[in-house]
Amino acid sequence: MIDIKTIAERDRSSVLHPFTQLKDFATGKIGDPTIVTSGKGIHIKDAEGRSYIDGFAGLYCVNIGYGRTEVAEAIARQAYGLAYYHTYAAHTTEELATLSDRLVRMAPGKPSKVFYGLSGSDANETQAKLVWYYNNLCGRPKKKKIISRERGYHGCSVISGSMTGMSFYHDRMDLPFPGVLHTGTPHHYWGAEPGETEEDFSRRRAAELEQLIVREGPETVGAFIAEPVLGTGGITPPPAGYWREIQAVLRRYDVLLIADEVICGFGRTGADFGSTLYGIEPDLVTVAKGLTSGYMPLSGAIVGERVYKVMEEAADRVGAFSHGYTYSGHPIAAAAANAVLDIVEKERLSDRARTVGAHFQKRLRERFAQLEIVGEVRGVGLLGAIEYVADRQTKRRFDPELKVGARISKAARDRGLIARAMPHGEILGFAPPLVVSEAEIDEIVELAYQATKEVMDELANK
Ligand code: PMP
Repeated sequence: MIDIKTIAERDRSSVLHPFTQLKDFATGKIGDPTIVTSGKGIHIKDAEGRSYIDGFAGLYCVNIGYGRTEVAEAIARQAYGLAYYHTYAAHTTEELATLSDRLVRMAPGKPSKVFYGLSGSDANETQAKLVWYYNNLCGRPKKKKIISRERGYHGCSVISGSMTGMSFYHDRMDLPFPGVLHTGTPHHYWGAEPGETEEDFSRRRAAELEQLIVREGPETVGAFIAEPVLGTGGITPPPAGYWREIQAVLRRYDVLLIADEVICGFGRTGADFGSTLYGIEPDLVTVAKGLTSGYMPLSGAIVGERVYKVMEEAADRVGAFSHGYTYSGHPIAAAAANAVLDIVEKERLSDRARTVGAHFQKRLRERFAQLEIVGEVRGVGLLGAIEYVADRQTKRRFDPELKVGARISKAARDRGLIARAMPHGEILGFAPPLVVSEAEIDEIVELAYQATKEVMDELANK
């Protein structure tokens, strides 16, 4: 291996890093890049030999943990046999056919077919095109608008980035694109009126959605996209009754429902899909991340019967379905996904996320709920978040200049735990690999607690 300094210099001079302050990185103010060298189970190592517990599974994706040789072998086997062929004009591979059959059997809603991409962003881009295509084929050329939620995250390409309800993904990048609208976030802690129950809050959010649809004209609204559990917007499970109320509105106005299962899919919430857990019946389902546990890039736009039927029936009239990537259904990615799903099934990782997740939720609340700078502890399965506030009674936020969340995340990292500071306030987020043990959960919670205490002490002494 080349020496660490050379790697850092090469990186600094040539990589455009996502979500990095470019000047601070270029000038060295935020130090050298962390060179990640290996991973095993829930741990990763850097080039200086430091080991970290990855409490965020990369970016909520390495559900089966690092270093699974079964997956590496499946990838190698496929690469030796056939590294690539396309799926245009009805070409396929054994791995792809097997994977698609299993996804159609397991996905929520009434799945019919899977269209493959390489990222959650491009899969949601495909979903938008499917909504437009479907409504054109149905003779409803105006029914094209897509509604997502403030603080929803659906990717950062043109339409998926527009669906993402966070202004810093839009600013100076000419988004959101016209035709993508946003409705209120399902965040009870911040959004509820004093004394408003979760059920009442859910009804209010559904009423707001209905008002938006009526205001725009139901004949112009094609789809609603949402994550079953809000992810990057703050790891927020839906308030009680939310999905029942929202789906009633969508049915009333014949609006398609896209469930973005990119984080929730394949066990993360303690059920196979977030839709299963919350009784969601989507028309279109987006999967990525856990599908390959990050071992290869792969995403799926799963098309439900209702939409697919119209597409097939129109085919004589409109010709071939003209959408696809060079790498749609890449055989190595499909082989990786099959090997990953074998592990997910064999090791019953959804069940594990439910039982170990229950322990995680309990420990988080025991350790953090009473701390004076903690406003809310929330989560489901192996997704968790701690929201820090300056005043618990009034919910007064910390001055953003204090960077409380980032400092706690850094203090955790200094102790060997990766837990992510999240946008929209001072939030520490967790999404450990689903293979995490209860003892490891205890370690994660303890390290996060020590990190929180360190920053609390700094704040008290300043
Ligand atoms: N949808 C959701 C719910 C996500 O969390 C993400 C990624 N964090 C995406 C879509 C976009 O996926 P990608 O980064 O692979 O484009």
